[in-house]
Amino acid sequence: MTVVGLDDTDSRARGMCTTYLTSVIGDALVAEGATVEKRLLVRLNPAIEHKTRGNAALAVHTDCDPEAAFEVAREAIEDLSVTDDPDTQPGLVVAPGDPGSVPDSVAEFARRAVRDRLSLAETLALADTANYVQEGWSGGRGRIGALAAVGAGRAFSEWTHELIAYRERERWGSPREVDPDSVFEAAESGYPGVWDTVDQVTGDAVCVPHTPGPVLYGIRGDNPDAVRRVAGGIESEPVASSALFTTNQGTDAHLRDGTVGSVRERRAYRVNGKVSRAPETRRGGHVFLEIGEGGDRLGCVAFEPTKRFRDRVRALRAGDRITVCGEVSEGTLKLEKFAVRKLNRTGDRNPRCPDCGRTMESAGREQGYRCRDCKTSAAEKERIEIERDLEIGWYEVPPTARRHVAKPLIRGGFDGPTHPE
Ligand code: ATP
Repeated sequence: MTVVGLDDTDSRARGMCTTYLTSVIGDALVAEGATVEKRLLVRLNPAIEHKTRGNAALAVHTDCDPEAAFEVAREAIEDLSVTDDPDTQPGLVVAPGDPGSVPDSVAEFARRAVRDRLSLAETLALADTANYVQEGWSGGRGRIGALAAVGAGRAFSEWTHELIAYRERERWGSPREVDPDSVFEAAESGYPGVWDTVDQVTGDAVCVPHTPGPVLYGIRGDNPDAVRRVAGGIESEPVASSALFTTNQGTDAHLRDGTVGSVRERRAYRVNGKVSRAPETRRGGHVFLEIGEGGDRLGCVAFEPTKRFRDRVRALRAGDRITVCGEVSEGTLKLEKFAVRKLNRTGDRNPRCPDCGRTMESAGREQGYRCRDCKTSAAEKERIEIERDLEIGWYEVPPTARRHVAKPLIRGGFDGPTHPE
């Protein structure tokens, strides 16, 4: 067996897509008489700033011999990658042997690539020690992702699937012709095993991208047959080719457990805390709150594109116990989902006048409250029970705002009740 890892071949402005290049490599290997056993689409640390979009790295598992596989991949990268964009730095790493038997150090590298930040120097040293053949273009930073994709088959145990359909080349860059009714119908028929195909509330076909690249649509789900079936129900312009990827999308592989006081920049966490500053909507519609644990504090934000999720965040109150998930950057955790563990249901208000029932007013600093009309008074505020518009359990961003690697609640396996979008 041979594992071909590649990354960083596309450009935000000019299109292309590393999954497409991978499918071209797969087809070329098959044309050479080899078998492609699997195509892996691995989402790496979403907080890496060089990413074009979703920080994907790709691997092909094949029975082609390593030298021939290297040549096929090198040619495809040279033909198709967007190397005239200075931000595109393709990388190729080819490993002989079974994907499940890569060394511990390579599997560990793949795990760290999803959760940490790695250097090219470390990548090249490790590829060298493992005796892998590698090549980089325009700086070759893509070799970081390529080596991670090589190790991913052993590093991770939870996998989902995506069936990606590609457009005819002459249509790239033009508006996509996909019949929305057929997408919604197919999505409905495959749900919940197939997820994030559409957003029922906004009416968006989430599976159809708007970028200039070759992808027509991508159907994500728990098993290959289900995604194929849903894709088969979509009516659209001609599909030039399609490829099935095994992927860590929708698995939360990027999250690690952290504490309010110990989170570090550009990593993603699951953190418990008590809301210490109530949610506040700021300019641009972003909603900020703060959680605390002991003497430590951590700011959290639900950005405007998370849309109706912000209503769930705004419904939080100081004193609520929650678990937040998301990436920390510039000292703030960007919320992807949160769980309500305990709701603070008590509040206080100015006392009511026992005679007329109206709200008393403050009688001055530390002088209690009084009713101006009835001359009644009270020393303190009244404690009241507050109706809450949230329940115990997990809330998430809508499909349109979900990071590829983030796990939709509908997939299950969460430590509490869920309120899926
Ligand atoms: P594409 O659709 O082309 O895959 P992308 O959004 O995945 O686009 P890339 O163009 O691949 O983004 O850019 C990501 C770059 O960051 C790659 O060069 C990759 O090697 C590098 N990279 C990925 N993960 C890490 C990491 N954990 N530490 C350091 N660099 C990383």
